[in-house]
Amino acid sequence: MTEPILVAGGGLGGLAVALALGRQGRAVRVLEQTPELGAIGYGIQLGPNVFPMFERLGVNDAVLAQSILPRACILFDALSGEELTRIPGEQALRARFGHPYIVIHRVDLHRVLLDACRATPGIVLEPSASVARFEAGRDGVTVTTDDGRSIAGAALIGADGLRSVVRAAIVADGEPKPVGYVAHRTILPIERVPAGMQRDISALWIGPGFHLVHYPLRHSTLFNIVAVFRTGSFGDKGDAAFHAAEVERTYRSAHPVIKSLLALMDLERRWTIADRDPVRHWSSGPATLLGDAAHPALQTFAQGACMAIEDAVCLADCIAQTGAQAGADFTAAFRRYEAARIVRTARVQLEGRELWAGYHAEGIARDVWLATFASRDAAATCECLSWLYDGFTLPNQAAAPASARGAS
Ligand SMILES: Cc1cc2nc3c(=O)[nH]c(=O)nc-3n(C[C@H](O)[C@H](O)[C@H](O)COP(=O)(O)OP(=O)(O)OC[C@H]3O[C@@H](n4cnc5c(N)ncnc54)[C@H](O)[C@@H]3O)c2cc1C
Repeated sequence: MTEPILVAGGGLGGLAVALALGRQGRAVRVLEQTPELGAIGYGIQLGPNVFPMFERLGVNDAVLAQSILPRACILFDALSGEELTRIPGEQALRARFGHPYIVIHRVDLHRVLLDACRATPGIVLEPSASVARFEAGRDGVTVTTDDGRSIAGAALIGADGLRSVVRAAIVADGEPKPVGYVAHRTILPIERVPAGMQRDISALWIGPGFHLVHYPLRHSTLFNIVAVFRTGSFGDKGDAAFHAAEVERTYRSAHPVIKSLLALMDLERRWTIADRDPVRHWSSGPATLLGDAAHPALQTFAQGACMAIEDAVCLADCIAQTGAQAGADFTAAFRRYEAARIVRTARVQLEGRELWAGYHAEGIARDVWLATFASRDAAATCECLSWLYDGFTLPNQAAAPASARGAS
């Protein structure tokens, strides 16, 4: 019997690839380090480009049932409170790209993918299985877990996130690069949000060295806030009092709306923001990577999960196209997958860095960026994002006639 394809990591990318492969009738075994898959998480924004992937995975309706379509996506100047750009959700985004822009609780999205995986024969989900290392041979891979188990597979997909151990063996480019910023995240009952605030939008407030994002979640019962800022202490462990003092200092000149939201945040925990340089190859023999393990980007475009899910469908298609069954067969499939994904994912990484600099610019550079953002109406902003939101052409679609891809 053919060994299953092993997936290290049961995050959004790992479950998406398990589902894509399981729907082809493949045996897949997902090894996830935590005792419960997808138990924690905050809000996540997903662009229209992910919806053709959800359709392929058969989860479109289930995702939409858990989602909110913000009334608009609005970019604000975090100092003056001035609205710089507004993209109406339905009229501009859905009309232009054919699919909505949504916000969803990560736990809910995870649950949708988990339920679909559980309903698909051939997918085994294994919690408390932390991948320590792997060895590749002619016929496949052998993974060793932290608790000493040895697990054989036809191939290995490293979907184990920013600090991937599978990447360490394949690419060996060390730790991700901190960019000197940290993020605080909070979800709270929406009734705690001050009256008069626009709660039904996806908002991004940009200021010198900081930004703040907010949007509603879970049938508008919850409110998600993310505060991101530059600090020399990004690598230090601090407590809530230390973090609160830093936040107060950093946002002292921010608009009152931002200050009122910061006052609601739980500042106990924070995340160091880091990315990596793009690499041309992230596969070696019968082992490859996807999502943050392959091409982690800054959060500028809010596309990390979308890229992981696009990777998943593309990778499963490349495996199907080559008919790979064991070991060395997968090498060709993985090369094809990398070639299909490199430019798009590297663009998210590299343009993400440029736009990140724009969001956080100071002095005259800030004036220039603000004037540029303000000069774009909704249609112009959509055009700037069309390379991303128009979606990804899967390798088998590229070969098919346009009529077979549903183009009109
Ligand atoms: C503040 C912030 C806001 C963000 N907002 C957005 C957004 O709005 N939209 C968006 O698309 N993206 C967003 N992202 C990015 C997004 O979260 C990631 O890009 C996405 O989760 C990547 O998915 P993944 O499956 O590749 O990795 P992960 O989600 O990191 O999943 C990796 C999984 O692997 C497991 N794992 C790790 N090591 C091992 C091991 N050795 N063995 C077994 N299992 C292991 C982990 O426990 C985890 O379950 C945001 C990120 C941050 C930090």
